[in-house]
Amino acid sequence: MSNAPHDAIEVITTKRDGGALSDSQVDWVVDAYTRGEVADEQMSALAMAILLNGMGRDEIGRWTQAMIASGERMDFSALSRPTADKHSTGGVGDKITLPLAPLVAACGVAVPQLSGRGLGHTGGTLDKLESIPGWRASLGNDEMMRQLEEVGAVICAAGDGLAPADKKLYALRDVTGTVEAIPLIASSIMSKKIAEGTGSLVLDVKVGSGAFMKDLDRARELASTMVGLGTDAGVATVALLTEMGTPLGLTAGNALEVAESVEVLAGGGPADVVELTVALAREMLAGAGREEVDPADALADGRAMDTWRAMVAAQGGDPDAPLPVARHTHVVPAPASGTLARLDALAVGTAAWRLGAGRARKEDPVQAGAGVVWHARPGDEVTEGRPLLTLHTDTPERFERALAALEGAYDVASGRSSEGTVTDLVHERIG
Ligand code: URA
Repeated sequence: MSNAPHDAIEVITTKRDGGALSDSQVDWVVDAYTRGEVADEQMSALAMAILLNGMGRDEIGRWTQAMIASGERMDFSALSRPTADKHSTGGVGDKITLPLAPLVAACGVAVPQLSGRGLGHTGGTLDKLESIPGWRASLGNDEMMRQLEEVGAVICAAGDGLAPADKKLYALRDVTGTVEAIPLIASSIMSKKIAEGTGSLVLDVKVGSGAFMKDLDRARELASTMVGLGTDAGVATVALLTEMGTPLGLTAGNALEVAESVEVLAGGGPADVVELTVALAREMLAGAGREEVDPADALADGRAMDTWRAMVAAQGGDPDAPLPVARHTHVVPAPASGTLARLDALAVGTAAWRLGAGRARKEDPVQAGAGVVWHARPGDEVTEGRPLLTLHTDTPERFERALAALEGAYDVASGRSSEGTVTDLVHERIG
């Protein structure tokens, strides 16, 4: 007879019947699942009950704490500068972390950015950086601390020790149709960010076709749940709800996005990428108590670029090496002359993924040069027969499926008016 204070069936039925889990039930089930005592099929049933019946704020807070307690906590309090981190819920062409981390570091705030790889139609920051010859994603804790002190910014892979309960649960949710539960998304993201030990956190919660959250109400609910969890855990947390109906910038794909990020660091690049990078940098600096610093200056005078180069070199990368280029391209011409009225983020992300920029299973390799370049953004003029999109891949048999994803993905309106075609980039601020 086990001495356990609970059993899996009792916890599942509590949630199935619409009840709130007690602290003790939450602590037990998260710990027992991590140790393998609660089986995958039992946790699947519980995750589905949570998806259907929700969780109260106290329950989500306790669940998050239990996931943090399943692993190690990092501590950056020995650093000579304050820390700030950013998390994006994931979007198409979302390369913002690449210019943002060195920009904020160049303004005197350390950025410990533990990132992931892409799965599905959204790209992963580590996959992007790995297109830089020599760059390595894995760092030990000591190396990370040293780089934070000396360079100010680190983007690296999260070690296995951080919130192992989440690693196991996320993989299970991925195959049981339970990814979309707001309590589970919020606790998954925030357990890793709180365990990582950042002093302040800015959440970029994406809204639209290319995002997890397709509508503003659900994005708002996710954002305020995460802001509440961070604040309760003593991390200064704010969220921006930002547009992801249209992809960001002009590129989706690993090396293509690195090249675009370098353009931004060099003082150019697409206006929306610059605008969002600076908006998030302002929030990170304010969260770390440096609101008087204007990040736009560090972008303009080249300090952010210097920090980027130092950050890449510290992890073995050569910032001057040419980036990989795909062996084959295919141009999609504009079907008519006029104004590009719409370019759908999900379709572009799916096309980039099918061209080889992303992976279907987590052990799949990605192609560094694969992806999509769009030559106009909604509101821009286009000319019939001139390139609208260029598809890049090493494996040309992929073009057909990528083109299928792009069917119906864009509209060209006659005339030159951009009215109604350009949506605000930042919808709301929560926190
Ligand atoms: N990202 C995460 O880390 N967890 C989720 O549940 C969803 C997105």
